[in-house]
Amino acid sequence: MEVNVFISCRAMPVSYTIFRPELSACKYFTFALRNQASMSEERSLNFLEEIIELHLKEGKYEHIHTRFPPEPNGYLHIGHASSICLNFGLAKKYKGKCNLRFDDTNPVTEETEYVESIKNDIKWLGFEWDGEYYASDYFEKLYGFAVELIKKGLAYVDDSSAEEIAAMKGNTMEPGKNSPHRDRSIEENLQLFEEMRAGKYKDGEKTLRARIDMAHPNLLLRDPLMYRIKHAHHHRTGDAWCIYPMYDFAHGQSDSIEHITHSICTLEFIHHRPLYNWFIEKLGIFPSQQYEFARRNMTYTVMSKRKLLQLVNEGHVDGWDDPRMPTVSGMRRRGYTAQAIRQFSDTVGIAKRENMVDVGLLEFCVREHLNKKANRMMAVLDPIKLVVSNYPDQTEELDLENNPEDENGGTRKVPFSRELWIEREDFMENAPKKFFRLGPGLMVRLKGAYIVKCENFKKDADGNVTEVHCTYIPESRSGHDTSGINVKGTIHWVSVPHAKTAEVRLYDRLFKVEDPSNEEGDFKSYINENSKQVLPAVYIEPALAAAQPGDHFQFLRKGYFCVDTDSTPGHLVFNRTVGLKDAWAKEAKKQ
Ligand code: ATP
Ligand code: MG
Repeated sequence: MEVNVFISCRAMPVSYTIFRPELSACKYFTFALRNQASMSEERSLNFLEEIIELHLKEGKYEHIHTRFPPEPNGYLHIGHASSICLNFGLAKKYKGKCNLRFDDTNPVTEETEYVESIKNDIKWLGFEWDGEYYASDYFEKLYGFAVELIKKGLAYVDDSSAEEIAAMKGNTMEPGKNSPHRDRSIEENLQLFEEMRAGKYKDGEKTLRARIDMAHPNLLLRDPLMYRIKHAHHHRTGDAWCIYPMYDFAHGQSDSIEHITHSICTLEFIHHRPLYNWFIEKLGIFPSQQYEFARRNMTYTVMSKRKLLQLVNEGHVDGWDDPRMPTVSGMRRRGYTAQAIRQFSDTVGIAKRENMVDVGLLEFCVREHLNKKANRMMAVLDPIKLVVSNYPDQTEELDLENNPEDENGGTRKVPFSRELWIEREDFMENAPKKFFRLGPGLMVRLKGAYIVKCENFKKDADGNVTEVHCTYIPESRSGHDTSGINVKGTIHWVSVPHAKTAEVRLYDRLFKVEDPSNEEGDFKSYINENSKQVLPAVYIEPALAAAQPGDHFQFLRKGYFCVDTDSTPGHLVFNRTVGLKDAWAKEAKKQ
């Protein structure tokens, strides 16, 4: 399968076709990222920037005003993060404003918990909103707008049931039929609408509809619903209302009330645009305008809140912030940085056509940032003991560099002693020719310490290696090496008497297929059962004992890790954020 990544961004405004699974995109991305600094001044504008620049040049607006309008019915995901970067990013670039507006017109699915998490995520991503608004703040105003349209003969109360309304709608080939209630008098409509508000009718008994055209070629304009009755408690307005505006009657009017100049939404709303314009025009209010861009989809995950909620409620993951979730809170917990997510959004850019971005690109951005930011540390995930038989019974404090990518990174003391933990995979009884680690008679450098030579090893009754014995070369200490010996391999280690233990959680992709929503049957049947592996007690160097939740590290040769919020003072938990290389690309090459 091919994955299309449309890049209307930094380096070139071209549509790239990336052939999975080699992820050659990463090569392109390296190029794009490396060139970003130098090209950002002269890069092509995306289509929204072009529109905005024209509007500013023509004097249509003095300043632009965007908004991010989440419905508080779930946690934000990477798709929302793209929309956030776009809306807040445009406002920042053109010295305009960006509001945060909660689109809370559906009392049934919305909760305050979601409002708080959304605010927290936006701040964490590094953005500040100018105004914080709620569509529910406008309920009275919207009611007034509806009354105005009734008075103009442009809205009516319909007694038809949902089924009757659907049956009268017609289809793309046939016009719809007028409701028998379409020609009620203005007075009667005003009275009925007031009674709807007052709670005189049950859910579904009546609706308010716009009086447009039942033969309109765009089905959305065939007398769309404006209000429905819902006797439900709202998370902000409580029981003050039992009628609630539909999305189409709330969104454009809310934009207009806030004087939003560029109302950016996803492509599925393109057919709603004429309706958005119709309400604004008939009400004669500030002419906000809607622009559409393609949703961000990413491989090996699902993005709709409805599906994410199922994963949470049915226990397929450990909550909205499970590190395998594509939610902002999940990615944060896993150790993705806000900068990496912004970089990802910015580099992929925006498109006008539906597209699928490979998750490998996001991981690439995460690695790029953590490579600069994360201190290098040593942890042994699958240990066997290495005894340095000619090393005296003492402890030596060695200086190890924290981060070769950061000139101010400094060094730390790491204790070295006669007994060390090393990775089981770094020893082979019958090592092949190009194995540059330990095996009978082989030599390797212990990171930041000495060169050792394997003399022999012990096995248990089942034939598993339990201990490796080496001798060390005293003149070979890193930084002071006068031994004249060159070895090809370097391995990491942790001193046995000084080691601390920690839990490590390793993650893989949550789904086994690229686009679970597009496969036959239930998307949940494509869940990868091996997406989480827990190592209850790995050995870490003592300096890591002071790590705090949210801290990032590179465990040498093992990947980037982040301290999980489940950690307690005596029990550290590390999440593997991402491996050092793309393990999937390597797998694919083998095939
Ligand atoms: P979902 O389908 O995941 O539930 P939604 O569109 O219902 O998403 P909203 O809370 O209404 O979620 O979205 C808030 C804003 O984020 C909207 O402007 C929406 O267009 C944008 N958005 C949502 N999902 C994506 C996505 N995958 N890519 C880009 N923008 C998105
Ligand atoms: Mg929505």
